[in-house]
Amino acid sequence: MDLWYTEKHTDNAGITIKTTETLFSGKSKYQQLDIVDTLEFGRMMLLDGLVMVTERDEFIYHDMIVHPALFTHPNPKKVLVIGGGDGGSIREIMKHPEVELAVLCEIDGLVIEKSIEFLPSMAVEIDGNNPRVKLHVDDGLAYIRDHQKEFDIILVDSTDPIGPAVGLFEENFYRLVFTALKDDGIMIAQSESPFYHAKIQKNMYQSLRAVFPIVEMYQAFVPTYPSGFWSFAFASKAYHPITDFDRDRSAKRNFHTHYYNEDLHLGAFMLPTFARDNIAK
Ligand code: SAM
Repeated sequence: MDLWYTEKHTDNAGITIKTTETLFSGKSKYQQLDIVDTLEFGRMMLLDGLVMVTERDEFIYHDMIVHPALFTHPNPKKVLVIGGGDGGSIREIMKHPEVELAVLCEIDGLVIEKSIEFLPSMAVEIDGNNPRVKLHVDDGLAYIRDHQKEFDIILVDSTDPIGPAVGLFEENFYRLVFTALKDDGIMIAQSESPFYHAKIQKNMYQSLRAVFPIVEMYQAFVPTYPSGFWSFAFASKAYHPITDFDRDRSAKRNFHTHYYNEDLHLGAFMLPTFARDNIAK
């Protein structure tokens, strides 16, 4: 049975994807969770009706939220992911042998449970069998308060600034992240679409610049996200993503990345003018 799933990106435009089967549909304490099968993108997770990940294009987002930071920091040993309950970010972090521990702090246990059940290619490292991975089911805003100077890298792999993720886009949270990072730590946060979300970006980067000495935006193409033009914030206490980047180390990596590479690491920070204007000081 062919059903068209439509996500509205604005009141007047969106994306529509042909689905063949609903694999799971349920409500947690926080949100509606649906996992459907689609003809174009494979299995797809929706939270409150918004596309989170698809099997076909998740490699782009997870490569780009993880590898720029882990190849800029010279020796990332301890990494925290806030959100990321599908497991894709943890999977990519585990490819870095120098990482001794990756902690996942996801507010909704149902997302982890159903990702393990229906999205095994993403959840491969969060099924409890990897001793280098620790899972917490908790609000990232609460979790971060109890940790000072503990992490080399913190990735905020959250939903959009609505519902439980609202606080993850505010200056108070960025100050807590700053404190939880070691003196040379790096924070990455998904920072929405430069095409549709100029206002969110302006506020977000203003807050980041009030806290971190180095703040840059970089881009990636994610076909199932609003406009397909997506972005990430690189907020750093010491290392700059371009001038402190060791291209050789990235080029010599001993694992395949389907989207990220040592040249794209640099190119992703080159922005179209309108995106640069969104976050101008
Ligand atoms: N790649 C997706 C994107 O860019 O929209 C994000 C995917 S991941 C599934 C987003 C996760 O953030 C969800 O599972 C959601 O439950 C989690 N989340 C939202 N607010 C949170 C919070 N305050 N603390 C921890 N996790 C949170």
